[in-house]
Amino acid sequence: MKKFGFGSMRLPCNSDDPKDIDLPQIFEMVDKYIESGFNYFDTAYGYHDGLSEVALRKAVTERYPREDVIIADKLPVYMLKPSHNLEEIFSEQKERCGVEYFDYYMLHNITNNFYNGIIPQLKCFEFAEKLKEEGFIRHLGISFHDDAETLDKILSEHPSIEFVQLQINYLDWDNEGIQSGKCYEVARKYNKDIIVMEPLKGGTLVNIPEDAGKILTSYNPDLSLASWGIRFAASLEGVLTVLSGVSSLEQLEDNLSYMKDFNPLTEDELKVIGDVVEIIKHSIAIPCTGCDYCLDACPEDIPISKFFALYNDVKQSIELQFLHYFYYDNLAKKNAPASSCLECGECEENCTQHIKIIDELKKVRDLLEVDLESML
Ligand code: SF4
Ligand code: SF4
Repeated sequence: MKKFGFGSMRLPCNSDDPKDIDLPQIFEMVDKYIESGFNYFDTAYGYHDGLSEVALRKAVTERYPREDVIIADKLPVYMLKPSHNLEEIFSEQKERCGVEYFDYYMLHNITNNFYNGIIPQLKCFEFAEKLKEEGFIRHLGISFHDDAETLDKILSEHPSIEFVQLQINYLDWDNEGIQSGKCYEVARKYNKDIIVMEPLKGGTLVNIPEDAGKILTSYNPDLSLASWGIRFAASLEGVLTVLSGVSSLEQLEDNLSYMKDFNPLTEDELKVIGDVVEIIKHSIAIPCTGCDYCLDACPEDIPISKFFALYNDVKQSIELQFLHYFYYDNLAKKNAPASSCLECGECEENCTQHIKIIDELKKVRDLLEVDLESML
């Protein structure tokens, strides 16, 4: 498979309304993508309020032979309630996409919380395994948003998982809130194919500080900022494809220019990325290094550095806010929420960066602590 997949989470729209999809532009993008030798299309039940799947039918499956394209879709685990009927949702997905089967099908947005809650409650794995036995899906996988330990547990308990979709990009590689690098290592340990999502971290890596951008453009003026993020992910062993959430023909053409004849990053280019990461890290809202000295002091066991990592992410790209509600919720449930801070000040005495942790945790609480149940 070629290492560049057409992501349909951020399709071009005519207005701010996610349902107001610019179909003529998508037709043009799809044609260009296929003409360039690519064929992997990723969608999900919830993208564009359900209309991403429909757009994919109109632009792809109604216009190209089914066997010439690879269609990936996802069971919307994070939207499920105990009263939902999985068969009905799957039938709706097939109809919306205009297909009889999916090549790749994932349990969407798996976290520890869902893994121990709605997934066993509705027997989601058993359901997906049956779909595979019956030929309605060709490959079963998960898209995953939690830590490496949780991924390890899930992969050891569910050998039927053939592939894992992970958030991987050069900035999150060592981010303790996201754990891209650690999750990648776990997937490799279990010999799972990897599909990469968010290689540009929701657009963050094309909006980097000016001095970081200059390093990249002076190294190679012909390469776009986006190219560094996408090539970083595609260069990793075991990566089947890298999804790019293309929002315009221009973006797609940029992606095609370096993914058509893909060259992995060289050692020199990796060093350049290392320099850029340092600059981006210094531009972040809370200059936490993740040393966790504060954690040893906290009587509430608040995962301070992980919360700060998530907060910094959202401050760099507001598009990440919704996704980070989930990361925050997982951490808060496993440990303690930011709002449980007693303001005792023990952590601040330990902080190697002299951060006003109590004040910053209040900002974290205000930004990320929401009632997820009532939002979905
Ligand atoms: S001030 Fe809050 S975060 Fe810091 S140690 Fe006390 S309870 Fe924990
Ligand atoms: S001690 Fe300070 S720098 Fe270290 S993890 Fe805690 S908040 Fe971050």
